[in-house]
Amino acid sequence: MCEYILSIDQSTTSTKAVLFNSNGDFINQSTEEHKQYFPNPGWVEHDAEEIYRKTKLVISGVIKKSEIKEGGIAAVGITNQRETTVIWDRKTGKPVFHAIVWQDRRTSDYCSELIKKGLEDTVTKKTGLLIDAYFSATKIKWILDNVEGVRERAEKGELAFGNTDSWVIWNLTNGKLHITDVTNASRTMLFNIHELNWDHELLEIFKIPESLLPDVKASSDIYGEVTDIEELKGVSIAGIAGDQQAALFGQMCTREGMTKCTYGTGCFMVMNTGNKAIESKNKLLTTIGWKIGDEVVYALEGSVFMGGAIIQWLRDGMEFFKQAPESETLANQVEDNGGVVFVPSLAGLGAPYWDPYARGSVFGITRGTTKAHFTRAALESICFQVNDVLETMKLDSGEKIPELRVDGGATANNLMVQFQANISGTQVVRSAVAESTALGVAFLAGLAVGLWKMDDLQKIWQSDQIFTPEMEREKVDIHKAQWKKAVERSKNWIDKKD
Ligand code: ADP
Repeated sequence: MCEYILSIDQSTTSTKAVLFNSNGDFINQSTEEHKQYFPNPGWVEHDAEEIYRKTKLVISGVIKKSEIKEGGIAAVGITNQRETTVIWDRKTGKPVFHAIVWQDRRTSDYCSELIKKGLEDTVTKKTGLLIDAYFSATKIKWILDNVEGVRERAEKGELAFGNTDSWVIWNLTNGKLHITDVTNASRTMLFNIHELNWDHELLEIFKIPESLLPDVKASSDIYGEVTDIEELKGVSIAGIAGDQQAALFGQMCTREGMTKCTYGTGCFMVMNTGNKAIESKNKLLTTIGWKIGDEVVYALEGSVFMGGAIIQWLRDGMEFFKQAPESETLANQVEDNGGVVFVPSLAGLGAPYWDPYARGSVFGITRGTTKAHFTRAALESICFQVNDVLETMKLDSGEKIPELRVDGGATANNLMVQFQANISGTQVVRSAVAESTALGVAFLAGLAVGLWKMDDLQKIWQSDQIFTPEMEREKVDIHKAQWKKAVERSKNWIDKKD
């Protein structure tokens, strides 16, 4: 009986292989971190060959641990860090350069030039994105322009580009498949999300030969078989989705208006907007949620830079505690924030304020303020920022968002999740499976091979705990007013250069 799905979660810091059974239960996982390279300030790279080596290791690791019998795995799904750019030689399989990671800012100046030239409108209309170094297009161009001989080889059709999903699949199939799915393609800044194809005008703007690009597939489909790994030989690769979209599906946000937020280092909120690509008036991103069969689901996405990172900073920078979970114990030592409001704009303010000149600020400190108040204010600040994105999404979409589904490391903190429910006035539902990303792509792969139908998935998905708003309206209003006031005062702190 083929009763397991194996998800590969190729993320920024590590690669995981996660096994689920046919009830969608988490069985086991194996994880390997990979090295982060910072060759210059603002540059971030990965070694793509190391990533594939680790992928093989974790796959073998999880299969061994779980004592799966031969033929027990029904399909493989792949979810990945989006935007990260790998270019390799089609003949030798060797990358021509390190992978340039989504966080890498080396092409920021070039992006500013494009904006000055007035290209943002064209790019946004076609791709749903804002011109930014974050997305793959300018990273590809950088490699073509800066690594010797690469542009000529690309023009001769000798090279292939992919995000890490394409890279892993190309290797798993010994170079047979050069593919990606619509969700990953929608983050390259080269893909027309309305027409669902690589856009020739954009390829022209970024000077990228089309022969580099992978074929774009649905997110759930039988693409081909694994050949490179003995234990998986002949198993279908049947699901691909970028990490945030996979989490949206893993949280079963399958109806219009359903929204999830993943609280990790940053917080990533994504709303299902059905078959409409909604253009944001507040600089949220429009993206593809998934494609199953012929049906395309669109999504709105907004992120908060400093989520769990603020707790990391209190731990490592301020040395308030040794482990992140202690933040909850400490915050529980006081009844409330004691009037302290923390704006964690340590790297500027994102949606909906967009002020790169803002810096972190703390207001309302008195002689009575302690570490506990400060920590409580920090946890609350994560929720205020998430709420700001939530309110923006409501405005852009006209949806009400009666429920927010949450996952990610920081949602272990009950005090924080309860505060989110209080401030947002919405039910906050924490999913039973913490690995929503891996579960989402397992669902997509399982659907393709007929292990599940959509109705089964609705039944399989379960919540761990539901948090309902319990703070009086008046108190909520005071909190929100204080937050707004504090944000206003933290804006425009550092001097502009020009
Ligand atoms: P990522 O995938 O971005 O590495 P994770 O989902 O593993 O993130 O979550 C880790 C983040 O969550 C860290 O930034 C950490 O500070 C924060 N975190 C973990 N546990 C808690 C907790 N109990 N309370 C608050 N923050 C936490």
